[in-house]
Amino acid sequence: MMEEISSFFGFGSSTSFADDTCHLLGTFGNCGIVETNEGLLMFDIAQERFGPMAFNQLRSITDKPIKYLIFSHGHFDHCFGFKPFLEEIKEKNWDLPQIIAHENCLKRWEKYRILDKYHRWLNRQQFASVIGDEYKGPSVNKSLEPTIIVQNEFRFELGGFSFEINHEWGETDDALWLWFPEKGVIFSGDLVISSYPNIGNPFKVQRYPKHWALAMEHILEKEAYYLLPGHGKLIEGKEKVKDVLSITAEAMHFVHDEVVKRMNQGMWFEQIYHEMLDIYPDKFAKHEYLKPVYGCYAFAIHAVYRLYHGWYNSGNPTDLFPAKSEDVAGELVKIISPEKYIEHCRKLVDQGKLQLALHIIDPVIFGVSQDNSEILLEALQLKSSILRKKAEQESSFIASNIFNNEIINLEGRIAELKNSD
Ligand SMILES: [Zn+2]
Repeated sequence: MMEEISSFFGFGSSTSFADDTCHLLGTFGNCGIVETNEGLLMFDIAQERFGPMAFNQLRSITDKPIKYLIFSHGHFDHCFGFKPFLEEIKEKNWDLPQIIAHENCLKRWEKYRILDKYHRWLNRQQFASVIGDEYKGPSVNKSLEPTIIVQNEFRFELGGFSFEINHEWGETDDALWLWFPEKGVIFSGDLVISSYPNIGNPFKVQRYPKHWALAMEHILEKEAYYLLPGHGKLIEGKEKVKDVLSITAEAMHFVHDEVVKRMNQGMWFEQIYHEMLDIYPDKFAKHEYLKPVYGCYAFAIHAVYRLYHGWYNSGNPTDLFPAKSEDVAGELVKIISPEKYIEHCRKLVDQGKLQLALHIIDPVIFGVSQDNSEILLEALQLKSSILRKKAEQESSFIASNIFNNEIINLEGRIAELKNSD
């Protein structure tokens, strides 16, 4: 799986295609280039820290100036690597390119400005176990302001080629994709990420499964020969492009329609979730382009439910005004001793029931005070080892990173406890 995640992150190399008119620059978040005799069209400009990588890749291919820069959507990994490009423009006295974004991209950045510190904190949660704790994350306070704001579609010409930009909802509400008909090329942004769509990211706001399926169907109509995804390698060949788009559309329709069906039958989330896991078709589970490399199917179930339902999702009034977890756990360990929980947890681990084991160790983690340091230490070490096993078995980057982050936290607490002895 390591190989898949590194191909997803796509570092380091460029690919030229469509008679060398197009180039894929591989940084975390692909950049797409179209080369014309009047200059370049650039689709996305990488994350801030990978801007120099995108710049070097581009300038090893062509010296031409960028005439159009299009943002596939307003996420950090696609719009903020512009610094070296701006320096070059200044140095060579070129005009600034036209910068194209959807109108919702501006609203997104407005929201990011309000939530700047929060997003840095949040992205550390999502990525920290990979890139380290010192990671500050990019800031939207330095953004490139669009000069052309798209609502539904926008068409333009450059160097004798025509281009068509369309808006969709999918991972975001500000998604744009580009159609370059002369060469049969699609630049999709994160509507295609070469793995199961990142539709139910547990940290992030609502995404749009039904719209995502429809977006795939709109792109399918073009019968493209090349598709440059937001992450992952170039997808090449009519049949392959068609296969990726249609299986993704089908998977999005499936998760959406099956959750909705169960909501209409009056089920609460837990029942829907477990039924949905049971009925996941093999054709999706085994498909090369739906691997749970980044997000996963289980997260998508949440996304659909959340699209239509409020936060009270258990149907159990106990959850309406909940007590503190540590108070509940404190009572539980009064009824049954922490040692018993630990003993039972170990049995579950031996049986391979890791998820149940986590539920059973938590009353000790939350309910036992620092004074009882020996038993707390044992519980922290046990939970850490369970999470390590879970992380090893997990293919979704987001999920395994959540496990790994908590292992780091637990190890911190373990070290603290040992020191205080
Ligand atoms: Zn992305």
